[in-house]
Amino acid sequence: MQSEMKRIIYPGTFDPIHNGHLDIANRAAKIFDELVLVVAINKEKNPLFTSDERIALIEKCVVDIKNVRVSSFNGLVVDYAKSEEAVAIIRGLRHVSDFEFEFQMAMMNYNLNPEITSMFMMPDEKYIHLNSTVIKDVARLGGDISGYIPESVKSALLEKYRS
Ligand code: ADP
Repeated sequence: MQSEMKRIIYPGTFDPIHNGHLDIANRAAKIFDELVLVVAINKEKNPLFTSDERIALIEKCVVDIKNVRVSSFNGLVVDYAKSEEAVAIIRGLRHVSDFEFEFQMAMMNYNLNPEITSMFMMPDEKYIHLNSTVIKDVARLGGDISGYIPESVKSALLEKYRS
């Protein structure tokens, strides 16, 4: 009997993608048949990179993961998950401070669509302090961001702050 394909979506702003996001993506791709990284268009968050730029950066970073696809959405994440026939949404958890927001979001998503399971994964300890906002601030002020983001993302970020 052929088992059903298990697809999971990993939504986020990814402005830009960093090594913590990639750690979660690598782990999730090993567990599920297909992982879809989904860029939330999120204009209200005023992202530094356009959604097309964020997608292109992610695509470069995940070329070595065979079962990954990159997409974008504008709207409710549960609706997007349903349109992809995904079984679950994965989110990263870094600190207790992430928990409160993620817990509320997960409960809301269960109310909106009980079929879609929310799952949480912790990154390797070395990525626990990483977030896109801090990386952008350090890059803007001329600090060294190597080790936090892939080279291609670093070049794109430095380019943004040069212009
Ligand atoms: P959002 O604005 O949707 O939180 P982010 O791009 O900041 O978007 O994060 C997307 C997802 O990646 C979230 O689940 C977030 O908790 C997770 N994440 C962010 N940074 C890290 C990290 N350093 N390690 C693991 N997961 C992370």
